[in-house]
Amino acid sequence: MRKKIVAGNWKMNNDLDASIELVHDIILNIENLALDNTRVIVAPTFVNLHVVNEITAHSRVEVAAQNMHQATSGAFTGEISAPMLNNININTVILGHSERRTYFGETDEKLALKVATAIAHDLDVLFCFGEQLEDRKTNNHFKVVETQIKNALFHIQPSDFGLITLAYEPVWAIGTGETASPEQAQEMHAFIRGLIKNHFGNEIAENTSILYGGSVKPANAKEIFSKPDVDGGLIGGAALKADDFVAIVKAF
Ligand code: PEP
Repeated sequence: MRKKIVAGNWKMNNDLDASIELVHDIILNIENLALDNTRVIVAPTFVNLHVVNEITAHSRVEVAAQNMHQATSGAFTGEISAPMLNNININTVILGHSERRTYFGETDEKLALKVATAIAHDLDVLFCFGEQLEDRKTNNHFKVVETQIKNALFHIQPSDFGLITLAYEPVWAIGTGETASPEQAQEMHAFIRGLIKNHFGNEIAENTSILYGGSVKPANAKEIFSKPDVDGGLIGGAALKADDFVAIVKAF
């Protein structure tokens, strides 16, 4: 059975004290919840990964990195490698977030390399993709998503696909307060599962978690998560407040 996942992307927010306080609050508030088959993940900035990971060691909360370089070491000033994440016991990395694509020039081709490196280092990948508003207005959203997935993920060996979680994040809904309707999310998630099924087979498609991201809040989480092909959420703004994030976890 595929996992339900709620992942909080803290982006470039929260200094050390704020990160410690936030993760403590989340741990405290979810420890008594019945979270069968549900993963709760937080993604702090690189400088706070290690300490947040130590704090979560005996809890239900997992910690992910927000990015990673495709090379394993070398002259790449400012970058972080997969072995470095392995070394501090980080097991998950977010790749392909739209902010990385838009502001840091991450292409599908570069992301394919990053995905391959992450897999080679046994890291779970939370792979993000999604169309721009213009793509949706011109009815190109399915084509865009298909191309992003094919380019970055279809090189993966089927036996490795268990490391992949997909996160559909329409760019027009990220940080804007605009959310895809539950029906729009379901329609796209079903399409994505169909793509995975055609290429990797039914079993892999059925076992792949597909998260929705884009202005998920306590008020809309339940309805979005109720859709059959929506297996959870990647949360930005609402992940910065323990109460909101925990309310979204409870929406399951
Ligand atoms: C995100 O950045 O992945 C995201 C979904 O942000 P927000 O929830 O703020 O739209």
